[in-house]
Amino acid sequence: MKTQAYAATAADKPLGPYILERRAPRFNDVAIEILYCGVCHSDLHTARNDWGWTNYPIVVGHEMVGKVIAVGSGVSRHKVGDHVAVGTMVDSCQHCDQCHKGEEQLCREGNTQTFAGADRITGEPTMGGYAKHIVVREEFVLKVPAGLDLAKAGPLLCAGATTYSPLRTWNVGPGSRVGVIGMGGLGHMAIKLAVAMGARVTVLSRSPAKEADATSLGADAFLVTSDTAAMAQATSSFDLIIDTVPTQHDLNPYIPLLDVDATLCVVGQIGPLDELNSLPLLLGRRRVAGSAIAGVAETQEMLDFCARKNVLPEVEMIRMDQINEAYERLERSDVRYRFVIDMASLGQAEPVAA
Ligand code: NAP
Ligand code: ZN
Repeated sequence: MKTQAYAATAADKPLGPYILERRAPRFNDVAIEILYCGVCHSDLHTARNDWGWTNYPIVVGHEMVGKVIAVGSGVSRHKVGDHVAVGTMVDSCQHCDQCHKGEEQLCREGNTQTFAGADRITGEPTMGGYAKHIVVREEFVLKVPAGLDLAKAGPLLCAGATTYSPLRTWNVGPGSRVGVIGMGGLGHMAIKLAVAMGARVTVLSRSPAKEADATSLGADAFLVTSDTAAMAQATSSFDLIIDTVPTQHDLNPYIPLLDVDATLCVVGQIGPLDELNSLPLLLGRRRVAGSAIAGVAETQEMLDFCARKNVLPEVEMIRMDQINEAYERLERSDVRYRFVIDMASLGQAEPVAA
C-alpha cells in the first residue's frame, strides 16, 4: 500500500513530502489509518542523525493514534474501526525471558524500533508515524481506552510510557518525593503521572518562566537549577529523580539531592554523560540508573491509568508542513509541552519523492 508521509532525506535538510510503501498486512498484522502523531525529541535526534545511526530517507514518529482499517486473518485482539495506538516498538523476538515477562523493550535480541529499525522478516528499514498509514503486528498495537481524547493521547505512547515505567519500577506512590529534570515533552508527563500517583513533585529546570505551568500541572515545588543556594537546600530530599535532559550534561549537581538509597534515573540523554564523582554515591548509597520506554503491557496499563485519572499531555496541534518550524522550537525548548501533528493536514501537498 502506498501512503503519504513526510521524510527526512539528509541530516541538514528540512523534512518534506514522501510516498511510503507499507507492506500488505500479514496474517497477524493490523493496518492503521494514523490520525495524530506526537513529535518526540527522538524524532529530531534521528532526523538530524545526532546518534549516528540514521539511514536516509527516513520517516520518524512514534506516538501514533489512529483507527484500524484492515486486519490479517489471524488477528484476534483488534478489529476494523477500533481506536488504537502505536508507540516506539513494533516487534521483538517474543520468546526470550524478557519478552515472556512482557518487557519487550528489553528483548534479549533487541526490540524492533518503530523507525530506524529493521523488519524482523524482510530486514527492510522500519518507518514511523509521520504518515497516513502504518502496518504493525497485533501484539504491538495498543488499545486507546474509551474517553481518552484521541487528539491528545499520542504523546502518551512515548513521553508517557517512558516516564511511567521508572515511576512504577521505583514504586512511586502517595508521599514519594519525585524530582523531574527538564520540563519538556517527557518531563511534563513525568510531572502529571507522578502527581496522579500521589507523589510530591519538584521540577528542576533551567527555565524560571515555566514555574507557573509546573504549578498548574500539579508540581509542589520548582527549583531553578542555576540557583545554587536553592539546590543546596534540596540536599537529600528526593526518593527518585527522573532526568529528561536531551543532551550530554553533568549529573554531579543532582546526585546530592537524592536521599539515602534513592535513585536518579536517566531517560533523556542517550549516550555519554559528563564524568561522575562517585563520592556522593558512596556516602549516600545513592544510585544512577537508566530506563528505556516501557513494555507493551505496561504501556497499556499507563493508557488505562491515564484514562482513569484523566491524565493527558499539554499539546500544541500542528499541520504536517509545520514540522520543520516545530523542530526549531523543540531545539530551543520552546514547546508547551508536546507538538502533535494532525494527519488530516498531510496529503494536501504533492509528493516529491518515491
Ligand atoms: P524536550 O521536549 O526537548 O524536553 C527536554 C527538556 O530538557 C527541555 O524542555 C528543557 O527543559 C531541558 N533541556 C533541554 N536542553 C537542555 C540542556 N542543554 N541542559 C539542561 N536541560 C535541557 O525533549 P523530550 O521529547 O522530552 O525528550 C527528552 C530526551 O529523552 C530526548 O533526548 C529523547 O531522545 C529522549 N527519549 C528517551 C526515551 C527513552 O526510552 N529513554 C524515550 C523518549 C525520548 P527546561 O527548559 O525545563 O530546562
Ligand atoms: Zn519518543
